[in-house]
Amino acid sequence: MSEVEGAVEVPEGSPQSIWFNEKARRGGFASGAALVSSLDLRKYRLDQIYRAATKELARDLDGVTTLPKDLRAKLSERGFAFDSVTPTVVQRSNDKQTTKGLFRLADGSEVEAVLMEHHGGRSTVCISSQAGCAYACRFCATGQGGFTRNLDATEIFDQARYFARELARRDKKITNIVFMGMGEPFANYDAVMDAVRLLHDPKGFGLGHRHITISTVGLVPQIDKFASEGIQVNLAISLHAPNDELRGRLMPVNRKYPIAELMATCQRYMKATHRKIFFEYVMLDGQNDSDACATELARLMRGPLYHVNLIPYNSTGAELSGSSDAKVRAFQKKLEEHGAVATVRVPMGRDIAAACGQLKAEKNAS
Ligand code: SAH
Repeated sequence: MSEVEGAVEVPEGSPQSIWFNEKARRGGFASGAALVSSLDLRKYRLDQIYRAATKELARDLDGVTTLPKDLRAKLSERGFAFDSVTPTVVQRSNDKQTTKGLFRLADGSEVEAVLMEHHGGRSTVCISSQAGCAYACRFCATGQGGFTRNLDATEIFDQARYFARELARRDKKITNIVFMGMGEPFANYDAVMDAVRLLHDPKGFGLGHRHITISTVGLVPQIDKFASEGIQVNLAISLHAPNDELRGRLMPVNRKYPIAELMATCQRYMKATHRKIFFEYVMLDGQNDSDACATELARLMRGPLYHVNLIPYNSTGAELSGSSDAKVRAFQKKLEEHGAVATVRVPMGRDIAAACGQLKAEKNAS
């Protein structure tokens, strides 16, 4: 925006400029700079608007009373809006710990996000990075529905803003964000990294990098790129099977990036960052839950930076079903016998179809 004469200095690539550029474009301006010049905005006005959106979590311009009325009116006349996602269905689980939202985007696409309020005060929000997904994992409801489009950074960010606002009403805050909703974050790499900048900005939303986790289907070039970002954002890899034969059947992406290549990439990541990787492993009855699988998986986990996260399966009505609790525990025990570190994810929100893509699938079916 700095190229506008006499206008404001908002460094290109800064969270504030990412935010303004996207909101301005969606409002019909050519860029953030065009917005600034057309309304002759001063720097402190931009700061007020950005602060209202990211710190005060204002829903819309009307709520921002620090701005003069005529400026608010001009901005909204031009289609400038704070929220790029509109909740269409919001469901709360019986135990009140899980809230799931289905959000409509401007073009009518829909994505889901889920808030999980854990005992002990942690509140995790799971957000989507794409409408649909191109990776077609066999066990995943989103994958079965196909790909629609990439989200932009503020469409991703606004899912977090929605739940932050909900929590604020109860004097609570988001403590963690996971990119485990719809879509493959690393197939929309730039927008996801911009969303991370918005989530992290200490002058804005202010969530620490260590409280953010990106989960990927295992896209090798992007894992390498992510390793070189020099940020403390956590990485999770959807492994789900310990050998190519089985992984290839469950996850078509394995044909492109087979396990040996993926694990070599993980080693490079660990060497570069000294950070742990969480390997997600969804427990599928009779598919990947045998003792032999546990032994094979343990062999891939080569030290203290490897952490297995066993995920009880949320059935999506397809041909697959989840392993029994006893089987999950036995699998965890076997992994530990072989020296691997494994935890079991506590399932939440099963009564509201809280697994990836399930709410949308259900709504469309009914
Ligand atoms: N595309 C990314 C992130 C989205 S899914 C990835 O593949 O990692 C987030 C996690 O939920 C992944 O590990 C995914 O495999 C898992 N998952 C998908 N459908 C599920 C279901 N029905 N039950 C449990 N976990 C599921």
